[in-house]
Amino acid sequence: MESNFEKYDWKNDEMVVVPNHALVAHKLTRLRDKTTSSPLFRQLASEITQVLVVGATAGLETNDEVRETPICEFTGKSLATRIGIVPILRAGLGMSDSVHQILPMASVLHVGLYRDEETLEPVYYYDKLPRPATVDLALVVDPMLATGGSAVACIDRLKETGISEIRFLGLIAAPEGVKKLRESHPDVKIWMAAVDEKLNENGYIVPGLGDAGDRIMHT
Ligand code: URA
Repeated sequence: MESNFEKYDWKNDEMVVVPNHALVAHKLTRLRDKTTSSPLFRQLASEITQVLVVGATAGLETNDEVRETPICEFTGKSLATRIGIVPILRAGLGMSDSVHQILPMASVLHVGLYRDEETLEPVYYYDKLPRPATVDLALVVDPMLATGGSAVACIDRLKETGISEIRFLGLIAAPEGVKKLRESHPDVKIWMAAVDEKLNENGYIVPGLGDAGDRIMHT
């Protein structure tokens, strides 16, 4: 199969961020390894997610806040943005706790989607999104951006609720998924640990890591 790599030059697209970081590369290698156990897989997924979320939230708005150290008064900062973490069920649960740890004040909003195995099209089975929206920024988390169908469908719903800013965080993308998400939602910035070579005929990312949901949930 021809790779979309040359057709879609995500490396020069500032809306797709792939950290060039030795720690991420090291952890991702172990995450992909088929002999990695489910507990270690969850641990690695969580650690990589924390690197991504630090980058994805770097420029958030803050308010000045006056406090006192034991020495004197100082003006610090507090986050001004109401954040929602949106795991796409079920594999997104493998990233959401880790995002919640670093953003403990965030809300967690659930959207359940699965891929129809024949059509590979997304099917909703759960949607508890507040309407109208109660957050300013949604961080959508799903480890694998494969065809992009679930990500696009989830973001369609989030936009319907009135959320003004949406960012997507995942572990591994196929170029096909990046292309679809960028074309459908050009305003959504994407943070991935890696963009791989291609999708195979069964809709799996190559080389990828197999079925992320199964490896996280040990099913
Ligand atoms: N979903 C997965 O879990 N893995 C893939 O490779 C593609 C979609």
